[in-house]
Amino acid sequence: MTYTYHNPTIIEFGEGKIESITNYIPKDSKVLFVYGGGSIKKNGVYEQVVKVLKDYTFFEFSGVEPNPTVETMNKAVEIVREKNIDFILAVGGGSVIDGCKYLAAASLYEGDGWDFLDGTSQPKAAVTLGAILTLPATGSESNSGTVVSKKATNEKRYFFSPFIFPKFAVLDPSVMATLDDRQLANGVVDAFVHTCEQYITYPNNSPIHDGYSETILKGLVKLMQTWDKRKEYSWHEDLMLLANQALNGFIGAGVPQDWATHMIGHELTAFYGIDHGRSLAIVQPQLFKVMFEDKKEKLLQMGKNILNIDDANKVIDKIEELYNSVGISTNLNDYINGDKEVISKITTALKNHNMTALGEKGNLTLDKVEQILTLALK
Ligand code: NAP
Ligand code: FE
Repeated sequence: MTYTYHNPTIIEFGEGKIESITNYIPKDSKVLFVYGGGSIKKNGVYEQVVKVLKDYTFFEFSGVEPNPTVETMNKAVEIVREKNIDFILAVGGGSVIDGCKYLAAASLYEGDGWDFLDGTSQPKAAVTLGAILTLPATGSESNSGTVVSKKATNEKRYFFSPFIFPKFAVLDPSVMATLDDRQLANGVVDAFVHTCEQYITYPNNSPIHDGYSETILKGLVKLMQTWDKRKEYSWHEDLMLLANQALNGFIGAGVPQDWATHMIGHELTAFYGIDHGRSLAIVQPQLFKVMFEDKKEKLLQMGKNILNIDDANKVIDKIEELYNSVGISTNLNDYINGDKEVISKITTALKNHNMTALGEKGNLTLDKVEQILTLALK
């Protein structure tokens, strides 16, 4: 196997670590402090950040929405340019961090930043970015990916660039006390699916990658099985580390990767506003059924090593049951308000985005997407 693995993000993990950011933001920086809809004003994070930034020149940009849009982030691009911002501090969940990654690259680009999302251009530079994570789920705090939407066209796309790795990520589990059940469940499921996208493929020859993935999956299964402890610090601490490790690049380096659940899920979110984690929970169990021949060996491996189940079909049922047990409906009908066009909308969007050969083998074609969505409409 061959791969390049490079993850430059400094992780500051643990209670009280927000203070450490001054070690990484040069004193003469002009900082743009970016956050979402105001959750950070309810858990003391806003006050902590303002205190830590007191000796810096800084500006604020708030209102980054879940599933961040170019429409919103382009307003921040204007501020970065007007105020000559040279450090972007993202404080929030995956949406704020992803929005800031777009912002960092789009601010130094002469054209329309959407070019990165539709693949017509690649960033050549980005403003330096740091992250204070408040919702563990996406791994965005220490990876090079971003997912951004365009409201005008109901599109949700992604891009990767080495320039958008955050310089640091603060992972302080004490900020999670204000997360509600919906976001905690979304976070566990997103991290679980990230791991599966890099593990439930075809067998590889790396027991180290598999073992690492299985440790992460075991931890996430345990969090779902101890859902009654979800308000406890140790539960938060585990999710913060697990979600980070699930998508910091290592478990996928050099091994086959799927990502079809994410690609289909993104289209569902673009049309129906379904939370990211939930969009994955709807698609993934049905995808495993439709792609069973390709997935059965790793499903069985997962069953034996993690779930104590000796039957690949039962592993799929167990995964769905775990999602349901944390309050997530896996029935697509519960999210689409009776829209009869759902399947054609999703397959047309995938076609428009050139996603007609998904999965680790490129054999998940649009007819299979149709089968997956049909099964998801229970
Ligand atoms: P999110 O959209 O960032 O946040 C969801 C909600 O949680 C927001 O309303 C937010 O409120 C609230 N919230 C955040 N922290 C909170 C806290 N500590 N207490 C109370 N409420 C809090 O959720 P996410 O799941 O982290 O991010 C989802 C996005 O990331 C999607 O667009 C998805 O496609 C993308 N994603 C990216 C990657 C990647 O690698 N880059 C991977 C997977 C998914 P406020 O806005 O008020 O803060
Ligand atoms: Fe995800």
